Amino acid sequence: MLEFYASEAMSCPRRIYFRLKGYPERWPEFIKVRLEQGVNTHEILQEILEKRYGFKRERHLVLRSRRLGLEIHGRIDAFREFPIEIKGKASVPKFPLENHIAQLNIYLRWSEAEYGYLYYVKLHEEPMRIISRIDFSDFPVLRGPNFRTFEVPYDPYLFKETLRQFYSVKKAYESEKLPSGWNDYRCKFCPYRYLCYPDGG
Ligand code: SF4
Repeated sequence: MLEFYASEAMSCPRRIYFRLKGYPERWPEFIKVRLEQGVNTHEILQEILEKRYGFKRERHLVLRSRRLGLEIHGRIDAFREFPIEIKGKASVPKFPLENHIAQLNIYLRWSEAEYGYLYYVKLHEEPMRIISRIDFSDFPVLRGPNFRTFEVPYDPYLFKETLRQFYSVKKAYESEKLPSGWNDYRCKFCPYRYLCYPDGG
């Protein structure tokens, strides 16, 4: 069974292909800094959710499709009866990103919850500067400067579409045929940029 990750849902097919083929990731320096800030932000928020609201951190899940010959593995940032996915961003978006909704949607499918929550939080060297200003009074809808909550319902059509995409990457992987990629501004955040743009692009 080929393994996919929930975090790859509706992301660049070519990037998933490179990961499956075992190419090493090479993160640009500015992303490494963000990744580190993201880890710190996650830890603080997860701890609050665990201690105040009884959520479990890093709940592991596997969804298996024998018919398609693939598995989806995931790790939910915080889970009780519903999942919460935390995204640290350099700037908080006005709308949730499609691939983030698709990732959360996998968690909703697994947990059979009707709704889940996407939290976008601005990254900072000292995450408490952002987190200490969050208003928890309407939990699970959190509010604050540099913070945004989106309540996301389960979408069975998006789940089908996600499966369809994973399956097409699986076919590409098996036939060693490089799938087409995003080729847009998002490539600058990709650890396989060096393969798509060997001359810097
Ligand atoms: S550089 Fe762009 S097209 Fe290439 S794998 Fe990454 S996201 Fe996809």
